[in-house]
Amino acid sequence: DQKEYDFEVLVIGAGPGGYETAIKAAQSGKKTAIVEAGSFGGVCLNEGCIPTKTLIRTANLYTEIKEAADFAITGIQKEQVSVDMKRLQQRKETVVKTLVNGVQALLRGNKVTVINGRASFVDSHTITVDGKTYTSEYFIIATGSVTFMPPFIPLEGNTNVITSKEALELEDIPKSIAIIGGGVIGIEFAHVFSHLDTKVTVLELMDHILPMVDEEVSEMVKKRMEKQKVEFYTGAKVRKVKDDSVIYEYQGQERSSQADVVLMAVGRTANTEGLNAEAIGIEFDKKAIKTNEYMQTNIPHIYAIGDVNGKVMLAHTASHEGFAAVSHILSKPEQVHYDRIPSCIYLDPEVACIGMTEKAAREKGYDICVGKFPMMANGKSLVEGDTEGIVKVILDKELGEILGVHLYGKHVTDMIGEISVAMNLEASAEEVIGSIHPHPTISEAVPEAFMAAWYGRAINC
Ligand code: FAD
Repeated sequence: DQKEYDFEVLVIGAGPGGYETAIKAAQSGKKTAIVEAGSFGGVCLNEGCIPTKTLIRTANLYTEIKEAADFAITGIQKEQVSVDMKRLQQRKETVVKTLVNGVQALLRGNKVTVINGRASFVDSHTITVDGKTYTSEYFIIATGSVTFMPPFIPLEGNTNVITSKEALELEDIPKSIAIIGGGVIGIEFAHVFSHLDTKVTVLELMDHILPMVDEEVSEMVKKRMEKQKVEFYTGAKVRKVKDDSVIYEYQGQERSSQADVVLMAVGRTANTEGLNAEAIGIEFDKKAIKTNEYMQTNIPHIYAIGDVNGKVMLAHTASHEGFAAVSHILSKPEQVHYDRIPSCIYLDPEVACIGMTEKAAREKGYDICVGKFPMMANGKSLVEGDTEGIVKVILDKELGEILGVHLYGKHVTDMIGEISVAMNLEASAEEVIGSIHPHPTISEAVPEAFMAAWYGRAINC
């Protein structure tokens, strides 16, 4: 192609997918630009991963401070400890701002041209942003997602329905909250608000909360949250929200739950508003942009990565899909291994999982061996003051291949990375067992669970 374009790679959207992809393309020697309509860092930094974890940190600390006497700390009057939501919002803003500024500095430092405004396709090599036209040899669409508002749950009267975005901006702690959806977002908010002494009700259509987590683990999480007074209705079909009440069908009966606020958390949907993608012939699969394993759309020089392609809606998946798109542009194609994407749920204790659940592995016809190690038998968990949890390992019985690992315990979100490395290197059970884990750490529970699966016995249990 002899045509001169303004850029070699133009990325649309600067969420975790878009900005990391732009940096990668620039570092690979491509003349790169990025367009962002809103705030740099996308949903993840501004209204997703980072702000939720900031709220969770305060909720956990608040609970720990009230329990300080259990750790021999005196002088704290439980009744006098409280959370100042306005100051929590300020802290959240500071954290977000620091990271957003960091993203802009990284883009500049890597010589990515930054364009502010909303991009709209004119043709497959041209976009406009605020009346200005830009051309590029390749485009990478990374426009993310928005909260799905289900049309089958009508909102009647003067409702108090909010999405995760507004839930992160509350200036007062609600007395009660009803959460529609027991996926990761719903459960993380249930955790936050239950620890801030809000009465929490979770309504979930499926029989289990947290569908990506092994059922044995998700049941443990549910029981633990019930101790925190969260009320769960699984198998509940929400019919509508009317004024301040959620009306739902539960065990054959119509019920209603009144709440100060109702959080809609039944999922997210691809965001292509104003992009004009359909008009230039980009194919969709429902709302999401259809892509192949290299993230190419049906127009080969246009890629779509992250939430907008609807594959897996996680920040780290978005950036890895972006790297796959860049390597394809560089003619060194690499694929994303969707069977090895870690998922974390930031509760206290935390949940982290990768690969298949026991049920999924059996349904797929694998001959498996399963090993478990309870955190109760882990010294560091006892020191930490919370022995709730388990490491559950699912292996291929013949080869010792790791099929799935599910962790529930203190700080386990910081541990799942090692399983990701092990799976990526196609490590066997024996290789994980033979890798020395330091003592005393929660991570010692990992080789123990592998021993339980592979040899039928752990050492410390
Ligand atoms: P986004 O982050 O959605 O960014 C898209 C960007 O594109 C936005 O900045 C938008 O302004 C811009 N844009 C859109 N259209 C245009 C246009 N036409 N022109 C220019 N710019 C445009 N994931 C995790 O991995 N871990 C978590 O702990 C986690 N927690 C979450 C908590 C909540 C409450 C929510 C809502 C999500 C959470 N997620 C989490 C999911 C995560 O935020 C998303 O998977 C991730 O942000 C997707 O990244 P992305 O780059 O695809 O898109």
